[in-house]
Amino acid sequence: MKTEGAPPGRAAEGKTEGRAEPRRGRRGRELAIKGIAISPGVAIGPLYDTAETPAAAPRRAIAATRVEAERTRLTAAVAASRKQVAKLKSRLAILPEEAQEELEPLLDAYAMMLGESRLIRNARKRIEAELLSAETAVDDEAEAIAAAILAARDDDKAGLRRRAGEVREIARRLTRNLTQSGFRSFKDVPEGSILVAEELTPADAALLDPSRIAGVATEEGGADGHTAIMLRALGIPSVLGLAGLTSAIARGDQAVLDGGAGTIVLRPGSDAIAAGRDASAVYAKERTRLGKLRRLPSVTTDGEEMELQANLEIPAELPLIAQAGAQGIGLLRTEFLFMNREGLPDEDAHFEAYRQIVEGTDGAGVTIRVLDWGGEKDMEALADGVDPTHTGPNPALGLRGIRMLLRRPELLEVQFAAILRVSTLGKVRVLLPMVTIPEEVRQAREIWERVVRRVRRRGVTLPDKLPPLGAMIETPGAALAADAIALEADFFAIGTNDLAMYTLAVDRAEAEVAHLYDPLHPAVLRLIQFAVEAALRLRMPVSVCGEMAGNPRLVPLLMGLGLRSLSMNASAIPRVKQMVRALNVDDCARFARRVMEQSDPKRIQELVMAFVPGEGGARGL
Ligand code: PEP
Ligand code: MG
Repeated sequence: MKTEGAPPGRAAEGKTEGRAEPRRGRRGRELAIKGIAISPGVAIGPLYDTAETPAAAPRRAIAATRVEAERTRLTAAVAASRKQVAKLKSRLAILPEEAQEELEPLLDAYAMMLGESRLIRNARKRIEAELLSAETAVDDEAEAIAAAILAARDDDKAGLRRRAGEVREIARRLTRNLTQSGFRSFKDVPEGSILVAEELTPADAALLDPSRIAGVATEEGGADGHTAIMLRALGIPSVLGLAGLTSAIARGDQAVLDGGAGTIVLRPGSDAIAAGRDASAVYAKERTRLGKLRRLPSVTTDGEEMELQANLEIPAELPLIAQAGAQGIGLLRTEFLFMNREGLPDEDAHFEAYRQIVEGTDGAGVTIRVLDWGGEKDMEALADGVDPTHTGPNPALGLRGIRMLLRRPELLEVQFAAILRVSTLGKVRVLLPMVTIPEEVRQAREIWERVVRRVRRRGVTLPDKLPPLGAMIETPGAALAADAIALEADFFAIGTNDLAMYTLAVDRAEAEVAHLYDPLHPAVLRLIQFAVEAALRLRMPVSVCGEMAGNPRLVPLLMGLGLRSLSMNASAIPRVKQMVRALNVDDCARFARRVMEQSDPKRIQELVMAFVPGEGGARGL
């Protein structure tokens, strides 16, 4: 960038702009970036940048009365774009110095164009003078600037093309922010590509076809956010939190992505490609070996059983869940029913989806969690029907989960009715998300009983023993009030993803603070212990269904804390089972006592890493 690209000064208007042709120069070199390992597997192939997708913004004229409204939209899009660029820049610090030197001036140039630049000034003028929509005004002005740049007398034609491209790039970002409402489509992604995005929502991830997409790499995202969970569920090799990625790529680039190691190598040389192929072969061999565990029981060396269930995000996972040898589904996240659609699903749509899942699990049991909307689980359909101000400035602390369902009981009633109908076909349980007070369970139970009466009146013969109603324990408040909530609920499912997020005040989907997100923090472990003990005192079933449950290294500790049921991403089951089969319950109990005496997260991490099954768990402690 220093040599051929834009030094910060040259970002002055009319001289900026780079995507019309590959941005090469020093960016033509191999570059390795380390991010957050999300979903294992190796992908080698061309990159597909989602920002390249032409934004769907047809030319649009407006009435004179719309001028102010369009200007306001433009101002909002400029502000959103500036925020995004500033965020990208703030994360460059973790890149090697050389890469920073290349990317920083580019982002500075973008930031300048998003200030009082010719692009923004003239787009505002065009809205009024030519009565154009904000998107059309931005597009026209960007094209005018690009044409002027390309017509300049300068021998450095490649430099001119790059600068014109930079203007177009910023116009594309503005357009994306102006038209952000539509659902994304990934149908045009060429088969075998590694998908690159600044950020992917869980609803975006749900649209990906694992048979076509070789891998996913994004700048944003944390280890246990819902996008990460969705990518793991789909089994797509993925790395999130890759600082500098979208600025460092050029059209036509190839890459090697290692989802287990959390790395991507852009424009790999022959050594990097060979290393990628080796890693891919090792991964395939390991999968075959673990596949052999499928039929073996999940029992410790001293005969204690650990139930291993699967979490399900979308029905497409069912074959994978069967292959993994799961003992039913411990967490069916029903949010998928609300994603990427215009209206709300009705009772029959819920029933059909649940029926397919209950029948697909051979009666092993399905725990259906009612809708947990809110936080980063952005669902267009519901957003239509919910006053967005209810979600407040901090959605994770707002009207999420059971709070929203009790505000809109008709949503809960539809789900309850469908669950009751499906309970005639197989074993199901109902789970309430984001419970913080016993009253919420009481209120939900009242609605449940009302729906039971209504469904019976409709002539449906329900089983004598109705599905139990459980509570997620996923906030510090719920964990510390677990003894009181246990008097209202029939079972607990401990959601360690949110529990860690709310306890440590660290957004689970935020790359910036991902290093602070630690389910092994003693505060989180003490809350888990408290909730488990409250359940066990009442002989009430309790499980862990957060991502923690799928980490084999944490099984001895969870077992030692008294847990006998874990629900996880299906692909994690074989490794977890392998661990269970090597354990002895007394060792686990001793180990858990030792861990719970510690108050330093680092020390806990060391103890967990040093645990060796079958050796009293004591070696290295
Ligand atoms: C959790 O919070 O741990 C959990 C299982 O729920 P979700 O990840 O869907 O929020
Ligand atoms: Mg949760």
